[in-house]
Amino acid sequence: MIALLVVFAAVGLAAGPRTWTPEKWFDKARSPRIANYRIEATLDFEHKTLQGRETISWRNTGSAPTQELPLHLYLNAFKGPQSQFVKESGGHLRRDQLEQQTEASSWGYCRLTSVRMEGRDLDGHDGEDETVRWLKLPRAVPPGETIHVDITWENRYPKVFARSGWADDFLMSGQWFPKVGVYQGDRWNCHAYHANTEFFSDFGTYDVVLSLPNALGLAHTGTQTNHVTEIEKDPQRPLNVIWRLHAEDVHDFAWAVRPSAAWREPAMFEYRGVQVFYYINGPNRGNFQRQRRAVESALRWSEEWFFKYPYPTLTVIDTPKEAGGADGMEYPTLFTASSVAFDPLGVREPEVVAMHEYGHQYFYGLLASNEFEEAWLDEGFTSWFTHKAMERSYHSILGGRRFQVGTDFLEWVGYWHLPSADPLTRFGFKTLNMESYFVTAYAKPTLLLNQLEAMLGRPVMEQVLRAYAQEMAYRHPTRHDFRRIAERVSGRDLGGFWRDFVEGTEVLDYAIRGVKTREVTQGGWLFSDKVPVFASPQPAAPGRVGSITLERKGGLRVPITLWVRLENREEQRLVWDGQDRWITYEFDSPVAAAVLDPDGNYPMLKDRLHASYTPKPVRRGFHYWAQMACGAVAGWLQGCGIG
Ligand SMILES: [Zn+2]
Repeated sequence: MIALLVVFAAVGLAAGPRTWTPEKWFDKARSPRIANYRIEATLDFEHKTLQGRETISWRNTGSAPTQELPLHLYLNAFKGPQSQFVKESGGHLRRDQLEQQTEASSWGYCRLTSVRMEGRDLDGHDGEDETVRWLKLPRAVPPGETIHVDITWENRYPKVFARSGWADDFLMSGQWFPKVGVYQGDRWNCHAYHANTEFFSDFGTYDVVLSLPNALGLAHTGTQTNHVTEIEKDPQRPLNVIWRLHAEDVHDFAWAVRPSAAWREPAMFEYRGVQVFYYINGPNRGNFQRQRRAVESALRWSEEWFFKYPYPTLTVIDTPKEAGGADGMEYPTLFTASSVAFDPLGVREPEVVAMHEYGHQYFYGLLASNEFEEAWLDEGFTSWFTHKAMERSYHSILGGRRFQVGTDFLEWVGYWHLPSADPLTRFGFKTLNMESYFVTAYAKPTLLLNQLEAMLGRPVMEQVLRAYAQEMAYRHPTRHDFRRIAERVSGRDLGGFWRDFVEGTEVLDYAIRGVKTREVTQGGWLFSDKVPVFASPQPAAPGRVGSITLERKGGLRVPITLWVRLENREEQRLVWDGQDRWITYEFDSPVAAAVLDPDGNYPMLKDRLHASYTPKPVRRGFHYWAQMACGAVAGWLQGCGIG
């Protein structure tokens, strides 16, 4: 460990003088530092329990006095089947499920053993369920005043099912300490732990002291402030080591342990002034450089698009396979993102997960929106960042020479699976079901931001995102902040866009319903001065004519462009206002080809296949299929490391 630290120090010196120390990151506070924590805790790794003591220093930044202090006790979500979390999830979440419910070790809890303020014990009552505890303070706390509350508690970690808990020799300690809600105006925002939604907290500083068995390697939020010259032993527990940890201007703190050599001495690569620690999972070692490249690319794009990642460290945990429930999760300066051991097709899922969880360092970590109420501001913006970063770095999620799977493909498929059940304005835990939560939190916002980019143009969209990220960093942005900033930067009224896509549930679905060709003939009975004369019908000018019928299948009415090429080689562009359900255009030559929305003004248009027309199918001959077959075989062999 000491040798490793020397290497780290040398790498750091080579990168130039640091402006931070492990004990103090920033000269000036970057955030309002409303909720600050000093925590001491001892882990009993064998029994998966933890004894903790903390002092919360909380400042009333609301507009009214309060005599209450609600605490999140998130681990009580796993206390038993009566919690909101288990009832809502039915024991299934995030590709994992609650197993062996009859075993005590499957469940966990967070039990307060004492809560004191100003020398007095505090009473309280449960909120919606036992994941929230409302404390009654001895007196009202006026705006501007800071109080200190001393708490002791005990955790039992569940077998990991969602985010926090243990599996085999791995333990993820997330949502592990009693944590104060957010006081805004004259009301507290402190929801129960729901199955679909995540968290919401105030920024602050964290000083955490952990006593851990000495065999364990520790991955953690923030920096370590001891162990510089020698390991600090726990004077009360000879086999334990003390870890002193620090973080500034963050709103959560998480850590994980594992008794493995790769964890006791994690790989560290400094990139753009950030110490990036990788906790590699042995079987995936062969694909480590893929994960590293994804993380470093994401660090670069976020710096170019928003602002420089401000913290000195970033920790990446390649979650063990058996702890799938803890995977793909974000915490300040730390995230879990599993890699793969064997991936012959080169599906870029590990890259997607790494970039997504990194993206949350901005849309969740630095822009701390209310995840209970507006999940799309963190999940949706992060999914859009992932799509853009993946596109810039890799072009596609999966692709060969002949086909590409786009970097927003999953969002596109997910959205059209259930597009209209809920508006984006619905609270995450009140959507119709989990599919609709996925649509409103991840899929639709990704497509909606594509749509906004198409409306504003890429340079303006980049300015909007940069302004939003910079102005709302270290704050609690809402959708109204995004709209306000987007309208100001673009100089556009986004009322229609907002009504249709954010508040509305209708879809953008136009199609070419049919194309017809008709022979022009003349003849039949002709009237003359004397008696009617019959002439056999004959072809007449212009010979053949065409028509095309467009249909609006969705509820959204927007003007849409139609491009047509006629058989007489004439081209036309027409704009239909889309108000009616259908319209037919007539031409004096048959339609040879047609495309709806040829300029790609509507990325949210459902069906590009039925928005284009050509009368002759493209012939795919021997050479096409031969290339497809050879390309597939060559790609597969390359994926296996051959060729
Ligand atoms: Zn996410």
